[in-house]
Order: sequence, then C-alpha cells, then structure tokens
Amino acid sequence: MTTLADPVPGGRPGDVERATALSGELAGRGVHGIVLAYVDTAGVARVKTIPSGRLADAAAWGVGMSPVFDTFLAGDAIVTTDVLGSPDGDLRLYPDLDRLTVLAAQPGWAWAPVDRITQDGAPHPGCSRTFLRHTLTDARARHGLDFRAAVEIEWSVGLDSAPAGEFVPAATGPAYGATRLVELGDFGADLLAACAAQGVDVDQFHPEYAAGQFELSTGALDPVAAADRSVLVRHTVRAVARRHGLRVSFSPAVNATGVGNGGHLHLSAWRDGVNLHTGGVRRYGMTAEAESLAAGVLARLPALTAVTAPSPASYLRLRPSQWAGVYTAWGLETRECALRLVTGTAGLRDRAANLEVKPVDLAANPYLALGCVIAAGLEGVESEAVLPPETTGDPAHLAPEEAAAREVRRLPKTLAESVEAFRGDEVLRTALGPVLADAVTAVREGEVAQVDGLEDAQIAAAYRWVY
Ligand code: GLU
Ligand code: MG
Repeated sequence: MTTLADPVPGGRPGDVERATALSGELAGRGVHGIVLAYVDTAGVARVKTIPSGRLADAAAWGVGMSPVFDTFLAGDAIVTTDVLGSPDGDLRLYPDLDRLTVLAAQPGWAWAPVDRITQDGAPHPGCSRTFLRHTLTDARARHGLDFRAAVEIEWSVGLDSAPAGEFVPAATGPAYGATRLVELGDFGADLLAACAAQGVDVDQFHPEYAAGQFELSTGALDPVAAADRSVLVRHTVRAVARRHGLRVSFSPAVNATGVGNGGHLHLSAWRDGVNLHTGGVRRYGMTAEAESLAAGVLARLPALTAVTAPSPASYLRLRPSQWAGVYTAWGLETRECALRLVTGTAGLRDRAANLEVKPVDLAANPYLALGCVIAAGLEGVESEAVLPPETTGDPAHLAPEEAAAREVRRLPKTLAESVEAFRGDEVLRTALGPVLADAVTAVREGEVAQVDGLEDAQIAAAYRWVY
C-alpha cells in the first residue's frame, strides 16, 4: 500500500533510518545511482538522479528541482500560468521509499517515484502524485471508499537502425500473431524477467493489432502504486528494448493512421474490503454505488479527455471503430464504448469485477488521469447518478435517434475541443485545485498552438518519440 502521509522536512518518523539501511543494501547490490522520477503535466517522465549513498539525505531533505517543468510542453517549450512557468523558485523531490526498485535492465541503477513539496515544507499544489494521494484520502474520509486500479500498457516497437525519426516496425505478420512473438521473443523474455525481478506481477504480454505493437497488463494495486507501476513498466520496456537494438514508442499514434496505443484504466471501488462492482442489485451485479461511479465518469468524459488524452497525437488514436472507445457509451465487455464493464469470470468476480475506461492513452500523466477519473466517479456517487441504457456493438453504427436515446455522443475530436470541455468543468477543476487545473489548461493550449497548421502525419512525427 502507498503511504498516504505527505513528506515533511527532516523526514517522516523512521524514514531516515530506513533510507540509511536501504542505501547500504543498494551498495551491496552494486547500485550506484537512484533515478527520482515524476511525470509532468504534458505526460513526459522527467528525472533527477542521486548517488545511492545520498538516499538518507534525500529522504530527510529532498532533492531540488524547479517547478517550471509543470508547464513544459511535450516538445520542451515552456508556457505560463499565473503562478507557474517562471524561472524562479525551487521544489524538493522526496523519493517514496516503499517504491524503491532496483532496475533489472539498467545495471547500477535503482528507481523511485517522488512527491514534491515546497521549500517551506508544504505539499506543492502542482504535484500530480500528491493530488492523487489526497483524492484517495478524501474518498476514504468522506465515503469510506478505497480504490484499486491498473493501467494497461500498449506500445510500438521499432528498429533502432531506422532512419532518424522514422518508425520501422520491428515485428511483422498478423495481428496477435505467433510470428511477431518469434521475431521479438528474446526481447519479450527479457522484459518478463526484468518485470519479475522488479516485483511487477505481469498478467499478460502479447503482440497487439498494429505492426510492431505489443501490450503488457499487470494486476490491480492502490491507484498511486498503479500509476507508479505504469511509469516503472514503461521505463523498463524502454531499457530492455535498448539492449536489443530496438526503439519503443508509447505515443498514442506512432503513425497518423491505423490503430493507436492505448493506456486503458481499470478501476474498482471497495468498502471494507468488499468489491462494489459485483454482488449488487443493479445491472450485471453492480451495487448502486458502482453504477453511480460509472455514471459519474461517463458524464464527465468529454472534459476528462483533456487529462486522459492530452496530446494532439491522442486525437489521431481517438477514432471510431479502433477499440479506443470514442463515444459516451457503456456496455458489458464491449471494446467500442468508452466504458467497458468487466464482470470477471464466475468464481473470480469478487476480485476481478471492475470498470475499464478506454479513451486514455500513455501521453496522459497517470496520476492526473486516475485522480480525475476517481473525482468524476465520486461526484457520481455523491449525486447518486444512474447510467443511461447500455450499448452493445459499435456505437458508430447507431442510428442518430438510437444514439440520442442512449445519450451516446462522440467524444472531442481534437485537443482544442477537449480543453474547451475541461475549462467548463467545475468538478474536475475543483478537484485539481487552481494551480493544477490552470497548468492542464495552459499546457493543452500550448500543445494546440504547437500543431497549428500541421498535417496529421506531421503531428504523429512530432510526438512519436516523446512518450
Ligand atoms: N489499441 C487499442 C487502443 O487504442 C486497444 C486495443 C485493445 O482493446 O486492447 O486503445
Ligand atoms: Mg490492447
């Protein structure tokens, strides 16, 4: 479980002793450096590193890094808000010792996600990991609810030898095909070994639909740990690929056309250790609260896409009939609705039943995405929201009157449209707080401006190797 307490100057009780012991262990395992990782508003993983011997100092006093990265764009241009984007100021990065992981594919290195606090010792209002932690603390205090989550990881594997900037798939043959796994079998085996060594319990690994595309899914954890894990898994995939002369992209659309890379979220709400998505009296065994949670997410999807699909490249992926879920619709085990109800197999339902949110990709900051989806769901619980009729099959084929009866609408087709929806969404803005909400708006508007006048192929190329 994630420690929900904020870091404090000097360290929380026991932190420094623990970090001192861990530092000794790391030295014994030949680890020289620790990667301190967080994800910025644009969805880019940013890092600082420290020598392993400095871990206790970092646990006590943090490591300095400018807040300016909160308003970096994916291409490293910088935008501003009322309070962010200036070259002034500094923050302290505090490694989460519970998540410290020796990196199996990068000998000599360990990795830890960080929380960011101000130099005065207060939580940084722009820290997305803190936002998610606080959302969970709130859900427990106000509703007695706990959450479990998992982030699916899809990516494209290309040849490192490809001409600069281009994507040449490293595996060919049919979708989900055995040939692809033979071509990249060594890479896959090393990836599974690295995940196992790092304590990442992989559910499945398989070739996906598009050329060179693969997917890895993992078990559910508390949402902060799930977001951490999605960052760690991507770091690991990248590192393993490098050792095989391969280059990977988690971009929503490595090419302008065809099936993209998703980062579907799986979420379940629990009370007193009981899964609320099964054993209830509503459709498919949902409890009233699980239905309200789903209805809350469904209602806010257009605004949520500004957080879950944050890149101009996200909208090359978010197209109908590509399993990306681009309609405000829900259904049982359906892959074209934005919300897919997963009941799990008979005998496993109390563990496995959950809600899958599909219009999410890996350009998204996973802490912001999970926090906002949970905030939307909690609003549904508070207002006792109910789901509209379910949808079966592909909503793209519904006649207009049928779509209207089911409240099925197309999600935003551009980043500009989703920012517009986000700007008008008081629930999400309030949940994020003004600093993060303004950062999201400014960064998205900045990305929109960056691609003004670009063709789809140019957009795909501009973001291809960023995520
Ligand atoms: N690649 C699809 C997407 O863009 C998802 C495929 C699947 O359902 O696993 O989300
Ligand atoms: Mg998939």
